[in-house]
Amino acid sequence: MAPLTPTWAQPSHPDVQEVLVSSKTDFTTKSLSKIDLPPYGLFAKLDFPPCTSAEHATYATVQTGKNSHLNLNSDLVYINHSCDPSLIFDMSSMSIIAGSNGLKKGQELTFFYPSTEWSMAQGFDCFCNTANCRGFISGASAMTSAQLEGMWLNAHIRDLLEEKKTGTDVDVTGNEHAKQEVDDTEQALRDSLSCAQTMVEKARKALDTYVHGTVDKENGGLKNGGKGRNGIGSREMSGEMGGDTS
Ligand SMILES: [Zn+2]
Repeated sequence: MAPLTPTWAQPSHPDVQEVLVSSKTDFTTKSLSKIDLPPYGLFAKLDFPPCTSAEHATYATVQTGKNSHLNLNSDLVYINHSCDPSLIFDMSSMSIIAGSNGLKKGQELTFFYPSTEWSMAQGFDCFCNTANCRGFISGASAMTSAQLEGMWLNAHIRDLLEEKKTGTDVDVTGNEHAKQEVDDTEQALRDSLSCAQTMVEKARKALDTYVHGTVDKENGGLKNGGKGRNGIGSREMSGEMGGDTS
């Protein structure tokens, strides 16, 4: 993570989080838990303030929805990525909760970045050293389905993945626009069929006219007579007329 100049009073979450700066030269940071939690226990709420909405993703934001991001404005930005994370950033409840194994005092605080982020300006090689490590980490949009398989993902990420897979548009409320698109498509096809039927009718009339002799081939005008002498017309074939009308 790029060096971050805190704009908030530190420590922001002294009861639950200890921030370690591992080196004075590269300012890499990590966070340790000060508490034990059962599986899915509440670690911290994402409150307003200090959280504020952000227009774009930065290294100091988390994504809360398809088009919404959050400035954490607290030491929570020092929670690093892991492919076997101890925490879940659950945007449906705007809270950070323990993972499925719970949390132990002294354990590193981590979460799976693609669980919130759809796209990241810069991916990175993960060195979480867990058996679960997914390798190169980027926003979920650039991860393979194999890399995301089995990982807890927020609803907006799952929606966006589904949208990417099916080419449908699912909005933040979960409404599928695909259904509307299907209806529009159906309507377009019906219009097209109706148009084709009209064309068939016109072609049949033109053929009938030609066969039954209302076209003067020499003059291009209409007259009685014409070609119809040499064969049967379509109406005769379809049985609508009793026989030759001439
Ligand atoms: Zn990893």
